[in-house]
Amino acid sequence: MKEYQGIGVSPGVAIGKVFVLHSGESFNLPKRVVGPEQISNEIARFEEALTRTRTEILGIRRKLSDQIGRESSDIFTAHLLILEDRTLIEDVIEVIKNERVGAEYAFAAVIQRYFQAFSQINDEYLKERISDIRDVGKRLLGNLCGEEKKRLEEFQGKVIIASHDLSPSDTASLDKNKVLAFVTEIGGPTSHTAILGRSLEIPAIVGIDKIVNELQDDDTIIVDGTHGVVVINPDQHTIDKFNSQGDRFVQLTNELDKLRELPAETLDGKRIILSANIEFHHEIPSVFSHGGEGVGLYRTEYFYMNRTTLPTEQEQYEAYRKVAETMHPHQVIIRTLDLGGDKFASSLEIPHEMNPSLGWRAIRFCLMRKDIFKTQLRAILRASAHGNLKIMYPMIASVYEIRAAREVLNEAKTELEREGFPFNKDIRVGAMVEIPSAALASDVLAKEVDFFSLGTNDLIQYVLAIDRMNEKIAYIYEPTHPAIIRLIDMTIRNGHGHNIWVGSCGEMSSDPAIALFLVGLGIDEISASPVALPKIKKAIRSVRYADACEIAQRALAFHTGKEVYDFLKEKLKGVCQELVDE
Ligand code: PEP
Ligand code: MG
Repeated sequence: MKEYQGIGVSPGVAIGKVFVLHSGESFNLPKRVVGPEQISNEIARFEEALTRTRTEILGIRRKLSDQIGRESSDIFTAHLLILEDRTLIEDVIEVIKNERVGAEYAFAAVIQRYFQAFSQINDEYLKERISDIRDVGKRLLGNLCGEEKKRLEEFQGKVIIASHDLSPSDTASLDKNKVLAFVTEIGGPTSHTAILGRSLEIPAIVGIDKIVNELQDDDTIIVDGTHGVVVINPDQHTIDKFNSQGDRFVQLTNELDKLRELPAETLDGKRIILSANIEFHHEIPSVFSHGGEGVGLYRTEYFYMNRTTLPTEQEQYEAYRKVAETMHPHQVIIRTLDLGGDKFASSLEIPHEMNPSLGWRAIRFCLMRKDIFKTQLRAILRASAHGNLKIMYPMIASVYEIRAAREVLNEAKTELEREGFPFNKDIRVGAMVEIPSAALASDVLAKEVDFFSLGTNDLIQYVLAIDRMNEKIAYIYEPTHPAIIRLIDMTIRNGHGHNIWVGSCGEMSSDPAIALFLVGLGIDEISASPVALPKIKKAIRSVRYADACEIAQRALAFHTGKEVYDFLKEKLKGVCQELVDE
């Protein structure tokens, strides 16, 4: 029995069999030992992956050659030569046979040997071939691991996924009926993979270094997503202990869900809108069951993922319309496409960048690809005829972007009017405040929009210069850092000073202690994952607004994030002990 500590990103306890899923991104794979009868099958899998990879590369080479000429496609000729290298192929087959291992492990082990050999050669040209081997190796490994996803689909029963990494698009394609929980080696608390864990409502833990090498398919593990603990091959006593902890969690959740019909209102009658963050329209029932009043953030980028073509206007219209109608009369805030950072779509060829979080993403991408942007805006506008829809732009850094986006929106309106489509001509438009410049200039931005929503996941990343995806520095990713809470305070005051409402849709407001603080600063709306809503509501319903205001003012005066957080936790304990016990 072995215990590991990671970052718990989605609460609850799961106990079950492991399914090790390789992402194909790393050549550092755990050894999967196979029986003698499976060896010929593993060799056949390897050969099939070689053929598939060859076909893919021939296709890319042909396309490139047609589009930009023979020379640029030569690199793919080099890739094909690597795939045809008999020594490499035979080496892999030897490893499968001699070590009785799975094809992906054998291939990764041989490729690693090649890297080593090439890096010792004193020849610049040959050294450069390493990157060709890496590229083609990743493609082949991806094909081998892609089969694993099929293996998962065909698997009978539920499993706990363990993987070095799960991209947001991988996570989005997980089937909740098959997956009990997941554990990854990398990822920060507000990475989109973590956020998707919460939306799937399964326990999830990220950032457990080197755990995959410790696991074999079919090992039994415990995943305690509330506390970030994983136990491998637990004894019966430990299983019983975690089972009863899991039961307590379910009990508390069921208890709090009973608040679903009640408003998020303080003891002295201050009303807060409590809405939900969603990624897919099939999450709507969960918004209702956890007492959400509408959708405060619809992350539409998942529409564009796991597919090879762009979503059409009609397809988007139908999805937005469904959400608008089901949520009516509550509001649904649709955030326009926020790709980039850790979210990519294969239908959009966004080039690899050195600093994707600071790069060509979100509204910056949309304003340069107005065709894609306008299609989405037209779909939202058309759906606005069926409910209370609002539009929100991500990654606003200055007034320029709001004005440029408004022009595209106006064009879309004019077109729809001409074409005779009904829509809400007065649709409200808001900006996410998630870039420091937007918070600092929120007084000027407030004159250009109808509302603000604080995107604290990115705000913290940019203000503290901490990559939100990086588990190694997650310990300094501090939502209550004085710089963050001052910027939040400033944004709310500037918004109110210009008569617009201000909400918050970052993950930090899922913490009921922090929710108290936001209420005390005068926030008008809090939007969080559906599972987080009952606790936030309970906290709001347990405090007097006047007290929350005093708590918030005192919190603003501390010098460190830890002091602020300890203080808020203590205050939460004072108003609602049961939220702190858990
Ligand atoms: C945020 O940045 O806080 C936010 C809500 O958006 P996302 O997590 O999708 O970047
Ligand atoms: Mg963001």
